[in-house]
Amino acid sequence: IESKLPAVKTTIFSSMSQLAQQHQAINLGQGFPDFDCDPALIDSVHQAMLAGHNQYPPMPGTPVLRQAIATKVNALYHAHYDADTEITVTAGATQAIMTSILACVHPGDEVIVIEPAYDSYIPTIQLAGGIPVLVGMRFENNRFSVDWDLLASKISPKTRCILINSPHNPTGMSFSKEDLASLANILRDTRILLISDEVYEHMVFDGKQHHSVASHAELAQRSFIISSFGKTYHVTGWKVGYVLAPKLLTAEFRKVHQFNVFTVNTPMQVGIAHFMQDHRHHLQLPDFYQQKRDVFRNALANSKFKLLPCDGTYFQCVDYSAISDQTELEFATWLTTEIGVAAIPVSAFYQEQKQNKLVRFCFAKKTETLNAALKRLQQI
Ligand code: PMP
Ligand code: GLN
Repeated sequence: IESKLPAVKTTIFSSMSQLAQQHQAINLGQGFPDFDCDPALIDSVHQAMLAGHNQYPPMPGTPVLRQAIATKVNALYHAHYDADTEITVTAGATQAIMTSILACVHPGDEVIVIEPAYDSYIPTIQLAGGIPVLVGMRFENNRFSVDWDLLASKISPKTRCILINSPHNPTGMSFSKEDLASLANILRDTRILLISDEVYEHMVFDGKQHHSVASHAELAQRSFIISSFGKTYHVTGWKVGYVLAPKLLTAEFRKVHQFNVFTVNTPMQVGIAHFMQDHRHHLQLPDFYQQKRDVFRNALANSKFKLLPCDGTYFQCVDYSAISDQTELEFATWLTTEIGVAAIPVSAFYQEQKQNKLVRFCFAKKTETLNAALKRLQQI
């Protein structure tokens, strides 16, 4: 058949995990925890199944979960989202991203994407008939940041929406209040929509806060804001997430959602709803992951790897230019096959070949996994 996505191959996350398995490497590539979730969460889902929550829930999600999300978002970001009309439960963030794009992008519309970009964004825009317009992040003094003037220069009469991601995969950068203010200045008096991927919202370190678009009333009124319980509760395989959006945007989102998945599995929704009422579960995440980040950074502080800042997410990027001249893909492959530690080349998050000599490690791992991997990395 004539491919709709001729340039797309199996994702780098699947191919690196496969390579890691073949070579019995420690997998710090694909982003997922190697430890289990809180047993209380499993118990909560089990109880939901036993209580008969096993048939279709309402299309936008189980009311008790939408209410729990509204409560959390209000507590954290002082934002009021109506559980009936402004919150929709999705099959992970991936579906929320795709459904938001399908709901608002018309054929020929331009969508601004900041690179490096999570791998699903661009193919999804293309499937909707949209045209991705790429804006490279600034990379100076080993730090990534968004050049808002450059982004503003890419806006045209065809720009339908802008996709942002903070805390940012893969760079670990997170937006400041000033970043959101710059974006608001750019968008004021336009009809441009915003899709804000905030799946790492609960992983921001060093006492900093996550600046959610939800906390910025002016931006929020034009935004789909996306999160994922997979990240927050260490259950990436459950594929449950949600989208917050004002009523009119939610109505359009749901038109697509109902034919995309219709609903998301009921017992997980009910189980998560009860578990998340205890806010300590997400409030403890920054400390939990900061400790892992610091184990990782301290162990490599005196190595030949140069560490990039990591303000958030569970990813640490490193510069390997003192070790090798290889391309990022070659180096990540070498690390996996010869050193026994899998990583992801940052070039996989760019459309055009971009070689900053960076690879990304995932530190959402048990201490013993991290220590075993670090021992191997320290020997390079
Ligand atoms: N966005 C980003 C930035 C991610 O890192 C991920 C997870 N890899 C997703 C979206 C997808 O999340 P989910 O597994 O909930 O679909
Ligand atoms: N989001 C995860 C990462 O960046 C992987 C998700 C996936 O495998 N598609 O590693």
